[in-house]
Amino acid sequence: MSTSPLESTVRGSKAQLKQLPSVDRVLKLPAVSVLIDAHGRAFVSGEVRALLLDWREARLLGKPVHAVDEASIAAALSARIDARLTVLHTNLGRALLPDEAIVAVAQAMRAPTNLEIDLDSGERGDRDTLIEKLVCELTGAQAATVVNNNASAVLLTIAALGAKREVIVSRGELVEIGGSFRMPDVMKCAGAKMIEVGTTNRTHARDFVGAITAKTALLMKVHASNYVVRGFTAAVGEDQLADIAHRAGLPLAVDLGSGSLVDLAQYGLPHEPMPQEALASGADIVTFSGDKLLGGPQAGLIVGKREWISKIKKHPIKRALRVSKLTLAALEATLALYRHPEQLMTRLPTLRLLTRPLAEIDALAKSVAPAPARAVGAQFDVACGAVHSQIGSGSLPIDLLPSAGLFVRCRESKSTGRRLNALAAALRRLPVPVIGRIADNALILDLRTLEDEAAFVAQLPRLNVRPIES
Ligand SMILES: *Cc1c(COP(=O)(O)O)cnc(C)c1O
Repeated sequence: MSTSPLESTVRGSKAQLKQLPSVDRVLKLPAVSVLIDAHGRAFVSGEVRALLLDWREARLLGKPVHAVDEASIAAALSARIDARLTVLHTNLGRALLPDEAIVAVAQAMRAPTNLEIDLDSGERGDRDTLIEKLVCELTGAQAATVVNNNASAVLLTIAALGAKREVIVSRGELVEIGGSFRMPDVMKCAGAKMIEVGTTNRTHARDFVGAITAKTALLMKVHASNYVVRGFTAAVGEDQLADIAHRAGLPLAVDLGSGSLVDLAQYGLPHEPMPQEALASGADIVTFSGDKLLGGPQAGLIVGKREWISKIKKHPIKRALRVSKLTLAALEATLALYRHPEQLMTRLPTLRLLTRPLAEIDALAKSVAPAPARAVGAQFDVACGAVHSQIGSGSLPIDLLPSAGLFVRCRESKSTGRRLNALAAALRRLPVPVIGRIADNALILDLRTLEDEAAFVAQLPRLNVRPIES
């Protein structure tokens, strides 16, 4: 192993340990004060303490140690801080918000808002009023309310309408979505008794009719958003289910999961159920997500008939699940874009990326490829090729969109798995993490969502593929 000028291979000794400076001394170094200005004293001192602990431990174990001059301390600290900050944004966080929403959130943070004041009367207002009008306009609902996410929307709906009573749902729709949200558990949490009807693959109208008793509070339909049942199947449609519910004087709630406010088929995408369709079919309450296909902030929307929505709004859990002014600002700005459907494809990032023309992604792949080819080094080879994008977040689970991307393969056939993993990890450590997937002996980067090509290329010189251990 070669020894850089900053390293010494002396084994640890008491004298060596004593050479480590104190946290205070490090914090006073001019090169470190630059880091304090950028990231704050508390964060930097925590990192200094952790770095010195690591070094102390390394010395005790007799490992090669870093020199403790100012430049090496500052460099190690800065690398450590980079790594920390990178980890803090690795989560991909669902929908990218439109610029209009970003501006609205900034404004809501900076200045007082009319969140809970009725500007006409000067009295205390309802924080849902503004957004409710817009949601009703777009979905055709009589009333609407907003909570923290769609999971909250479902929980609140069942708690408000079905607690201590029975809620009927098809066995084919007992969804589990990521993060341990399972329909049977949600029913239990909400205090309702779940009555399952039908079978995994087939449920009929008569199954629902036969299950209705004096204890029934609600019929429920759950959109199977992250799986499909294929083959010998039958399900009861919303219109028929609404009919069955209404004849018994009961409401029908439909959980759409994603729920798109526009017909995705007009953009050449697979059709995804729309809240306005569910309402038109007779559903009394419809719940859907703000940050899936809608393309806004994390939120759960509950829309439907006034009678039920007002019951939902009055339930004590509503206060615990309500959204902040920032969410409302972002949601309002996102929803306002839907008033101009012809501009959605350019202004709403979710839709823009879903409908991005293949030819454009293909051309991007060709123009961008040389930069990563240089950055990954001689052990890899970079080629352009056809890939398929998955939509994700429990939307359109089996539909894949044709896309284009980069295929990085190892030139040598030895340890290709480990080499590709090391490269994938290095890409994830970049200031703006790049997330690839490994399949067919290649690391694949789907370029559908790459919009800032210059920023991607500019950070590539920082790519640091750690050598694999043999
Ligand atoms: C995604 C989803 C939810 C939960 O929505 P969040 O906004 O993630 O809380 C609930 N039900 C279905 C059917 C879903 O697909």
